[in-house]
Amino acid sequence: MAQPSLNIGMVGHVDHGKTTLVKALSGVWTDTHSEEIKRGISIRLGYADTVFRKCPTCAEPDCYSVEKKCPHCGGKTEEAKTVSFVDAPGHETLMATMLSGAAIMDGAMLVIAANEKCPQPQTKEHLMALNIIGIKNVVIVQNKIDLVSRERVLEHYKEIKEFVKGTVAEKAPIIPISAQQNINIDALIQALDTYIPVPEHKAEKETQMLIARSFDINHPGFTYEEIKGGVIGGTLTQGTFKEGDDVEIRPGLKITSDGMTRWEPIQTKITEIHAGKSKVKKALPGGLLALGTTLDPFLTKGDSLTGQVVGKPGTLPPTRDGFLMKLDLLKRVVGVTNEAEINEIKTSEPLMLNIGTATTVGVVTSVRKGVAEVKLKRPVCVENGAHVAISRRIDSRWRLIGVGIIED
Ligand code: GDP
Ligand code: MG
Repeated sequence: MAQPSLNIGMVGHVDHGKTTLVKALSGVWTDTHSEEIKRGISIRLGYADTVFRKCPTCAEPDCYSVEKKCPHCGGKTEEAKTVSFVDAPGHETLMATMLSGAAIMDGAMLVIAANEKCPQPQTKEHLMALNIIGIKNVVIVQNKIDLVSRERVLEHYKEIKEFVKGTVAEKAPIIPISAQQNINIDALIQALDTYIPVPEHKAEKETQMLIARSFDINHPGFTYEEIKGGVIGGTLTQGTFKEGDDVEIRPGLKITSDGMTRWEPIQTKITEIHAGKSKVKKALPGGLLALGTTLDPFLTKGDSLTGQVVGKPGTLPPTRDGFLMKLDLLKRVVGVTNEAEINEIKTSEPLMLNIGTATTVGVVTSVRKGVAEVKLKRPVCVENGAHVAISRRIDSRWRLIGVGIIED
């Protein structure tokens, strides 16, 4: 399997079939955390890789599959494209996870179940998030068609058309499938291949990787010699990494001494690079990577480095504990039954900010002429001009209210 060339995000309302569809496309069940299994929802981002394959003899869309043997003619298929899936949760309290996942999506599948009226609250909230973050390559998946009549499929199609008017998904293809019964998956792969192209690779720029997950892969009972260093998962947005590279992670570690708190960049070395299902010597942008490091696994366990950035020492953007951002707010709150108007941002209110894969809370210290100044609870490593997804607490939940552009 080649290194995945792009990330496709799974978004949509809870239970509409995102995780089942990833399983149908990749064979991987991404809901693997015990807590997720217990609660039956995807809490943290799930990863899975797959190779889209094409049969050289069958016509489109029959030629598309993820099988080495063509399901139509039985002939040998050829590798077309390797992709990574980012399975974002649909449960409404987990919008922050969806937003940090969106930072690494090159395109998205908006999964909408045909056995419910469209739009459901999180279908709407997630589409708004794609809109705000600017993810333009969207394929709409009309799922669970095995549960409804042909008439209902057509009616549901019209509901979707009406719902996406004026959004990034206005011209997105709508593919009817059953993820569970494997119906029309070939046409879906064809649409993904066509509408979510491989992004332009900025391999010549300074290396930057956004961390989406971090792990301790050791099991209890490992001996000292067996212990492996901390593992970091994420996506290179630009540049390249090689095995053996010295790297820096920012903001790094929180150090408190004499009542003062500072953040110190972490230095480490890349011992292994995993891309797709294989180990590689060199990683390029696109797709999800896992880096083995020489870090104490205690530092990486339980996603503790999620939201941080990895690069070559001395090349990363500054660590900031506050910034100015130019505001662009939505008119109304989405994802709720009562879509109230969004009031102006006020001084001293706390906002949830998603920047890259980082989630932090910023307290507003001043607002004037559509520019807010925020002081962050947790610093971020980010460049001027970066986009910030802004959420506000409304009725005890964080709701997406707009976007900010970092000015200074
Ligand atoms: P998620 O919350 O969007 O990840 O949804 P899941 O993939 O966990 O699916 C929720 C439920 O819907 C599960 O019980 C699936 O078996 C079921 N499901 C998913 N896709 C289909 C489908 O195409 N047809 C039918 N009948 N059930 C489906
Ligand atoms: Mg799921």
